[in-house]
Amino acid sequence: MKNKERSLIESTKHASGKYGGFSFGGCQPGGVQVINPLRKGIEFPNGAKSALLLTFDVEGNYGNGRGSEDLEISNYDRICNRLETNGIPATFNIVGKMVEDRGPDFIQRMLDGGSEIAPHGYVHDLNKRHGGDKVYAGHYGPAENNMQINDGIQAIEKNIDSTVKGYRLPYGHFNEYSYDAMEGARLQWASHVGIDGYGTQPFQIGLGNKIYNLVEIPLDNQTFDWPIWMADEKTNKSFVDAVRAYCRSRNIQFVRTPQGGVAIWHQRMFEAIDNQSVFTLLCHPINLAVNKAVWRNPLEQFLFPVIDLLGELNRTKEAWVCTCAQMTEFYRQVISL
Ligand SMILES: [Zn+2]
Repeated sequence: MKNKERSLIESTKHASGKYGGFSFGGCQPGGVQVINPLRKGIEFPNGAKSALLLTFDVEGNYGNGRGSEDLEISNYDRICNRLETNGIPATFNIVGKMVEDRGPDFIQRMLDGGSEIAPHGYVHDLNKRHGGDKVYAGHYGPAENNMQINDGIQAIEKNIDSTVKGYRLPYGHFNEYSYDAMEGARLQWASHVGIDGYGTQPFQIGLGNKIYNLVEIPLDNQTFDWPIWMADEKTNKSFVDAVRAYCRSRNIQFVRTPQGGVAIWHQRMFEAIDNQSVFTLLCHPINLAVNKAVWRNPLEQFLFPVIDLLGELNRTKEAWVCTCAQMTEFYRQVISL
């Protein structure tokens, strides 16, 4: 089966509802209000003044990842071992259908290692459920958004009860019906909004005039793993351009290799520490399950050096490495939500 190639960024902001859209490729969702952003320089539970979150979108071949799903799934044991060796957790956002089709052992492994799991849609692309060509949550109304949110939660919770605290929708695309559904499901956090225009600090999200009881954890929409070595410049030019611009502004060599990715992420981490701020890294492990000589083994070449550095920063208390749920609990204590 060959995935139909499509850009991750399309022109429609939100075909349904009044607010929302993409946070990627220079797009900004409409109507987002940043309320009570977490103050910079605050002291986190381990005494550090900055926090780093490692988040994964676990999506096999349900989206547009191009690696081997079998290899991706078998990699999770190694990834979790590396996290455990370093004494740090991560947040894994997983496509619900993938849990049904391929789980639950690999998600249980994540939890056993102290990481958090949350849904990344029930289906990754909504047209696979509803037909037609509308892929994104923000293209749909309340009924479809409720199904996407609640079935994603159910796919995990029928295996592991009461573990889901938050949600990341595919493509980070949403509208107010998505947030209504997440709030209705009593979730605590969401992570869709990119750092462009909203900053890196967690905040309480408002959409239009409505303020939600959800902590929004902004994610890296400029330099996340994927464009560094996988994106082709024809369909994903905006990603490649964003990474190039970041490298230029920081005087980092722009090389589309795993090592180039590590250099960029190191810079991200050190900036967060310098600025006493929060930064949320985003990685797609399906793109680390590729077999091309030029990339050698991206798990070894890209992800493990990143995990080792995060472990070191956490041990030396230069940063607090936490899950989305841990950050949310901290935020709620500070802001008294
Ligand atoms: Zn995805």
